[in-house]
Amino acid sequence: MSDAIAVLNAGSSSLKFSLFAGHGDALELTVRGQVEALHTAPRFVAKDRHGKIVGEESWGDGVKLGHDGALDHLVTFLRTGLGEQLLTGVGHRVVHGGLEYSRPVRVDAKVLSALDRYVPLAPLHQPHNLAPIRALLGRAPELPQVACFDTAFHRAQPEVAQAFALPRSITDRGVRRYGFHGLSYEYIAQALPTYDAKAAAGRVVVLHLGNGSSMCAMTNGRSVASSMGFTAVDGLPMGTRCGSLDPGVILYLLDELKMDARGIEKLLYQQSGLLGVSGISSDMRALLESDQPGAKAAIDLYAYRIGRELGSLAAALGGLDAVVFTAGIGENSAALREQVCRNARWLGIELDEAANVAGGPRISTGASGVSVWAIPTNEELMIARHTLAMLDRADVRASG
Ligand code: ADP
Repeated sequence: MSDAIAVLNAGSSSLKFSLFAGHGDALELTVRGQVEALHTAPRFVAKDRHGKIVGEESWGDGVKLGHDGALDHLVTFLRTGLGEQLLTGVGHRVVHGGLEYSRPVRVDAKVLSALDRYVPLAPLHQPHNLAPIRALLGRAPELPQVACFDTAFHRAQPEVAQAFALPRSITDRGVRRYGFHGLSYEYIAQALPTYDAKAAAGRVVVLHLGNGSSMCAMTNGRSVASSMGFTAVDGLPMGTRCGSLDPGVILYLLDELKMDARGIEKLLYQQSGLLGVSGISSDMRALLESDQPGAKAAIDLYAYRIGRELGSLAAALGGLDAVVFTAGIGENSAALREQVCRNARWLGIELDEAANVAGGPRISTGASGVSVWAIPTNEELMIARHTLAMLDRADVRASG
């Protein structure tokens, strides 16, 4: 019987899962799927690595399955549908590990209550991320669970990169720059040496461009600075999030437009970014296909702000050896990559147009002073690696 690791990523309305088999570098995805529309019309689907459906269920309109119901269904599916595989551990994507967690942690009741303390720092994500951990601790306390954080990779940043220019009393309450998408950056940091070992040991900016978008400066594979700060609404414009904003805008919205905190939250997280600027869609594919002026304005602003952030992160690094595009837009949109690279010629970037259209991995010319790459990220695999490593360490301790 072979061992399997499950990776869970719980959002507000979905529970995504992946199953990995094998050991060490040979971890392989076997099944992935999700329960979606948890509170409206829940549907479950699971597919094997070839895309063949291996599990399916729908509950109908108006059914509120919730995270607990979704988890029950998933656990039953995993127990009955695993065949010759034995579930040895579960890794969870957790958005916030605060200052305390700079690496993954095995979760017990005490750790869970420590992670609960970060709910106010990420109220839209942390409670959903913790829900399946809590439910599994109750239902299967013997099953090892590992929490992997989006913030952990950035704890390596120098103090100055993590600070806001606020009074000490506010900083001491945890109001500082944390950075997110850390599991994606860590995956790229581990993958890059196989593409460009010299650059990977040097100064690299990674562009994680998806529905959520951010950028990270790394030296020798360690985070030095990032575009996201206290929350995941900072930095670049995103699908529906505004990115960096003059804090004076918030005061104006409160004082002049008489908006309250929840109204402002909705505006900044759900109605801004590509959607707000274009008035058309939050989806980059739809904007690239549209001939409406709003679509072009949104794409141009997105590319412009990426360019500004690239200059800022190159300054934090004191120069630039490589740039990596990743996530939905970064991996798939040759047009957006081209726009960004053209704006960044001053940094020594020279695009190889044919290689870019072909999808890379290398999309810069041989003569380019900075090598540029399009590399798929894999946050789930990163979580599975961490979970396996944690279980292996526990085994060593148990037998040592
Ligand atoms: P999430 O942050 O939800 O994980 P993804 O990394 O899946 O997001 O990225 C989603 C974004 O990627 C969407 O804006 C989508 O339009 C964009 N995208 C996916 N494929 C393409 C493509 N071929 N060309 C342009 N954009 C794409």
